[in-house]
Amino acid sequence: MNTEFIPVSMPDLTGNEEKYVVDAIRSTWISSTGPYVERFEQEFSHMCNAEYAIPVSNGTVALHLALLALGIGSGDEVIVPSLTYIATANAVRYVGAEPVFVDVDKNTWCIDPLKLENAITPQTKAIIVVHLYGHPADMDSINHVARINGLAVVEDAAEALLAKYKGRLVGSLGRIATFSFYGNKVISSGEGGAVVLNDPDLAYRVRILRGQGMDPDRRYYFPVTGYNYRLTNLACAMLCAQLERAEDLVYRRRKIFASYSELLSNISGVGLQPIAAWAEISPWLYCITIDAAKYGHTREELMSYLLENRVETRPFFIPLHTLPPFRDCIILPEGLPITLMLSSQGINLPTYPSLSENQIFRITELIRMFQKQ
Ligand SMILES: *Cc1c(COP(=O)(O)O)cnc(C)c1O
Repeated sequence: MNTEFIPVSMPDLTGNEEKYVVDAIRSTWISSTGPYVERFEQEFSHMCNAEYAIPVSNGTVALHLALLALGIGSGDEVIVPSLTYIATANAVRYVGAEPVFVDVDKNTWCIDPLKLENAITPQTKAIIVVHLYGHPADMDSINHVARINGLAVVEDAAEALLAKYKGRLVGSLGRIATFSFYGNKVISSGEGGAVVLNDPDLAYRVRILRGQGMDPDRRYYFPVTGYNYRLTNLACAMLCAQLERAEDLVYRRRKIFASYSELLSNISGVGLQPIAAWAEISPWLYCITIDAAKYGHTREELMSYLLENRVETRPFFIPLHTLPPFRDCIILPEGLPITLMLSSQGINLPTYPSLSENQIFRITELIRMFQKQ
């Protein structure tokens, strides 16, 4: 048997990535200043329909800087979903604040606006919304609760570049948004991230904190303790090439999403990702849920079967409130039933721009055949 291995994710670097990186090397601008850094800042802010886009080392430090710039610190609480990548909650701990975990909505898989109010205390300062698996959160409802309670809204848009909520792009729907350019994200520089925002004062603080706290008007004078969270001109060279094709990359991901959805639509026990009427998703990793009673096999059995047939998958995120660093965190008495259910049933299938129709067919046929066994 010599079947080709299908990984769960793979970056697409077939445009000007190599050319621009070679250009950056030849120019000797390899650190965090240079023409590609400036170009990326302009083009990415434009793409997100925002005033400022500040490149940073990765998506995790983008969240750290966002919380620092908002002045969140020790004794504060930040509401976050539990069904997300660990970075979302880690960033809250970095500033000395405590995450408060709220369940997701079964229709969006993003934080449930109806469950926010009960989680708010006098210590609550912000809500981090995660546009999970490329689907935007219900921002109008979330912003409404935030406004009434005087909370800042941070969008963790790491998985949702170019997704739209009621026709508006994610990244411009809260006070600050963060993106990740890790290798499995929609556009990538290997490691990388960005803080995106419209408020000039907050942008000024993000920039200072990103660059060791140096005063922009007085070189080597440091009024505050900052960090070295900058991104290199080399990484920005890759990102400039990726931006040229971002719309196309998302278009191909939408095609893949549509093919999977069609081929998996009537397999008993296989559930698909719901899409709200107001959402235009930017598919990240294609999602299915397995109802073991109806499917005849557990999620784990299906994942093993796919791997035996050389198809890599990954399970949904483990609920953060069940992990050792966050087990003692506050949760509401009703618990987080939707999060627990999705986390135990969900599988991500291979999703990347060069995945072919034949490969999608091979994967979905394996899922269909295994159901009958
Ligand atoms: C990828 C990701 C991040 C940031 O990850 P980095 O690896 O630090 O770039 C943050 N939040 C979510 C939801 C993510 O998926």
